[in-house]
Formats: sequence, C-alpha cells, structure tokens
Amino acid sequence: MSGAGRHILILGGTTEARRLAAELAADPALRVTSSLAGRVAEPRLLPGQVRIGGFGGPEGLARWLREQQVDALIDATHPFAGTISFNAAQAAADVHVPLLAVRRPGWVATEGDHWHDVASLEGAAEALPALGERAFLTTGRMGLAAFAHLEHMWFLVRSVDAPEPPMPPRMETLLDRGPFTVEGERELLRRHAVDVLVTKDSGAAATAAKLVAAREAGVPVLVVRRPPVPQGVPEVAGPAEAVEWVRRLFPRSRPFP
Ligand code: NAP
Repeated sequence: MSGAGRHILILGGTTEARRLAAELAADPALRVTSSLAGRVAEPRLLPGQVRIGGFGGPEGLARWLREQQVDALIDATHPFAGTISFNAAQAAADVHVPLLAVRRPGWVATEGDHWHDVASLEGAAEALPALGERAFLTTGRMGLAAFAHLEHMWFLVRSVDAPEPPMPPRMETLLDRGPFTVEGERELLRRHAVDVLVTKDSGAAATAAKLVAAREAGVPVLVVRRPPVPQGVPEVAGPAEAVEWVRRLFPRSRPFP
C-alpha cells in the first residue's frame, strides 16, 4: 500500500464505473485509478486518476497491479467486454489482489414485447431480414461489420464516434450517447420508419428507453445475449454494493449515501 491510501483500480467504460469512481475518489483513505480501453475519442471526465489503453493481456494487467501496488480490483466494464473480464480474473488470481465484478442485471421482456434472442451479432444479422427492412442498430460501431453484407436493408446506426468500414451500404449515422428518453426514441422510430430494432442486452437504464418505444410501436427487437463471464468472481449489481465491498475490505472508508 502506498502512503496516499489504499489503491483501487476500476476497469471502466460504463456509467457504473464512473459513479463508483466518483464515490470512492471522495474518500481520502482511498486512491482511485480508472482504466479505459481508449475506444471513445473523448471520454467523459472522471474523478481520481485515469489511465487509458490496454495492459497487454492478463500478464500485463498482473504486472500493472503489482507495480502500481493495487490493493483491490473492480471490474466494472460493459457486459459485452468479455475479454477484459477474463483477464481481470486471471491477473487478480495470479497476484492475489481481491477482485469484484459489477454486473448489472440483463433486460427482461414484458407484456407487449416482441423480442428474439440471438447469441451473437452474426446471429442478429442472420435473423434480421426476416423481421424487417429498416433497422435501428444500437449495437455500437465496433460490431457493424457483421451487418455489412445486408445490402438490401436500410440501417439507422447510433454510436458515440463515427463508424468506419466495413459497414452496410445503406445507412444513416446518428452520433449520440445516452441517456436517451422514451419520447426521443419514439420520435426516432417514427421519423425513420424503423420496423426492427437490434440491441445488445446491456441492461443499462440509460439505454432502456428504446425498448419501451419499440414495445409501444409494436416493433420487434433482436436482443443479442451476453457473452460468458469468468467463474468464481464475486459480483454485485451496482456501484452502491461495490462501495460496500470496498468498505468491508478497508473499513475506514465512508458509506454510500
Ligand atoms: P474487450 O473485448 O473485453 O477487451 C479487449 C481488450 O481491450 C482487452 O483485452 C484489453 O486489452 C482492452 N481493454 C478492455 N477494457 C479495458 C479497460 N477498461 N481498460 C484497459 N484496457 C481495456 O472489451 P471491449 O468490448 O472492446 O470494450 C472496451 C471498453 O469499452 C471496456 O472498457 C468496456 O467497458 C467499454 N464498453 C464496451 C461496450 C461493448 O459493447 N463491448 C459498450 C460500452 C462500453 P489488453 O489485453 O491489452 O489489456
């Protein structure tokens, strides 16, 4: 442990990670570093220290944990960031650093929803032509290649940064980031005559409004289910529980308000 307090490394890139960093960084007994992959050109500001870029696999992360004298690791990455979660599990075990995963619950269909579960973006692309012709694609710019061969469909693509090829030939891009409102999503579906929605099961409240709008409009939704997570890692559903975990590990830190 360094003189500045217990060092907590948060693997971030999510709303939960940002909230967690804000809460923990306010505790003078803790030193908080957030780690971002560097996928977004202009990430939102984060309290505490920030490092950007990959570590170089589980070995690189293990080295970083050791060299930076990290006392606890929190994997608060997106449910679809499958690789880094496995890296975190291996690195934490290798250097004996306590690890917690923050995994928000997935979305659950309710009455009026027309959801079709698929296991991957490729599965979504395969199922898509049978469900509609004008798709609202909210799966992120990194996965667009899976839909590039669907030349006869039209796509509305929403992403934080501009997408790059390979991507579908008939598409309109909407550069935006959540949170989104039901009114806004309703209007988007109407204006673009969307007849099918494609989403990952991110489970995020900030992006759930599109599901309500699709339900209201009777628009079918292709839901890409989550990739597997490493076994044996303790997990909580949100930042408040993660703060509790840190407090139990290092009892001097403050409670969540
Ligand atoms: P991924 O497939 O699990 O990770 C690929 C590689 O990127 C990892 O092996 C690691 O490189 C690096 N990496 C990932 N997250 C990192 C982090 N927080 N800090 C440092 N390096 C990281 O991840 P991804 O799906 O590309 O997602 C990247 C980031 O975007 C994550 O932080 C995630 O929370 C955020 N995000 C992802 C999605 C999504 O749908 N996938 C959506 C919203 C936000 P090394 O092996 O070199 O360490």
